[in-house]
Amino acid sequence: MSLILRAACVSDLGLVRENNEDTAYAGRRLLAVADGVGGAPAGELASDIAIRALSALEEAEHDDPLDALTVALDSANRSIREASQADPEHAGLGTTVTAVLLAGDRLALVHVGDSRGYLLRDGDLKQLTKDETYVQALVDQGVLTPEQARVHPHRSLVTQAVQGRKLTPARATLAAQPADRLLLCSDGLSDVVPDDVIAQTMQAYGEPQECASQLVKLALQAGARDNVTAVVAHVVDADG
Ligand code: CA
Repeated sequence: MSLILRAACVSDLGLVRENNEDTAYAGRRLLAVADGVGGAPAGELASDIAIRALSALEEAEHDDPLDALTVALDSANRSIREASQADPEHAGLGTTVTAVLLAGDRLALVHVGDSRGYLLRDGDLKQLTKDETYVQALVDQGVLTPEQARVHPHRSLVTQAVQGRKLTPARATLAAQPADRLLLCSDGLSDVVPDDVIAQTMQAYGEPQECASQLVKLALQAGARDNVTAVVAHVVDADG
């Protein structure tokens, strides 16, 4: 059996922002979301650089997908450092990155910042990533409850981004199963659409494109003060 991803991506400006600093990729092997920080135009540039560096992975088979993702992320980090040094307007540019690469029956994941990866398997939704944010650190310390963190004024403050500095991405590998459903999203979605609604929507929509559209629609209905991006993928048997 040979597994591939059937994937789709929907990204929206949201109702308040005037530019979209999210960039995403939805391929047969690679999924990625990058949410730029540093304000326009720097944020847009940083997320674009990151997705370009990662998208090269789509073209080849990878014996070690986790290593391949890590190398691509390092390359993105260097390019972002060069961009920030080349132009004072781009000082401070950076981006979150959450990316998944399928190789054989393994899914490798790298993660920096506060975009999220979710897995829906057998009806259960599991968050694969941990937010690298100030409020998540306070939740870990028992200072805030997750409910308080959701509405905290500094909930968007990330503790790490891909911005040309030393980087320690979270890394994981898991065994893929046919019928697994994946979601990568920017915080513009996960901030306003609760996990149980994400789970119901991923369960209800059989087509990745329809599911991604519906998730973004739900975020817009909830007010969407930020850019909203959803990459939805189903793990399928390429021969099936
Ligand atoms: Ca965002």
